[in-house]
Amino acid sequence: MKTHSIAIDGPAGAGKSSVAREVASQLGFVYVDTGALYRAIALFSTEYPSVQQFLANLESDCHLELKYFGGTQCIFLNGENVTDKLRTAEITMKASELSALPQVRAFLLETQKDIAKAYNVIMDGRDIGTVVLPDADLKIYLTASAEERASRRYLELEDKPDAPSYEQILADIQQRDYNDMHRAIAPLQQAKDAILLDSTNMGFHEVCEEILSLAEKHLELE
Ligand code: C5P
Repeated sequence: MKTHSIAIDGPAGAGKSSVAREVASQLGFVYVDTGALYRAIALFSTEYPSVQQFLANLESDCHLELKYFGGTQCIFLNGENVTDKLRTAEITMKASELSALPQVRAFLLETQKDIAKAYNVIMDGRDIGTVVLPDADLKIYLTASAEERASRRYLELEDKPDAPSYEQILADIQQRDYNDMHRAIAPLQQAKDAILLDSTNMGFHEVCEEILSLAEKHLELE
């Protein structure tokens, strides 16, 4: 059976995951957060004293599985559900660094392609429309200004203990944008056939509605 796929790419903090999760639930698709795979690899790397040792053991010792509980993606690393360990500032920056390594990207490529062969998916990431699913039925490049993305993130975190300052969040976002856009392999860029959505001045529901109406046009859904 041919499966449907929607690719959503864009920089950190553009709202890809919350939008993709909502649209997936409306369409009955599986939402695949590919950033979580890179984050799980970053967590795996912390077991090794050097990048060389981490890479030498990646293929043989890093077993990743995605499981879905009530539509929520959980990620298992060597049998352990590590979903709650992937959002720390340390893992975030490490994922950004390690995702530039060709061995890491090659390791995850087939996993991502296989999921899209098995299910109707909305997959979000940085290279989904360009590399992972070049034949996706619909490709969206979702972005917003760095200041807007930082201020959304700041509002999410401000009540948490040890919340970072707005300036720190903005600096981290700018660093991750730079890393993602300048790496040699699969850099973040808008696919030629992707539709640009700039959400700087759009609300969450507006973005979801826009993607749902594009899905209606681009996908032959029953
Ligand atoms: O999307 P998220 O912020 O969770 O991704 C974590 C990191 O993984 C990103 O900063 C990016 O460097 C990397 N990534 C990637 N390609 C993807 C998804 C994520 O390089 N498809």
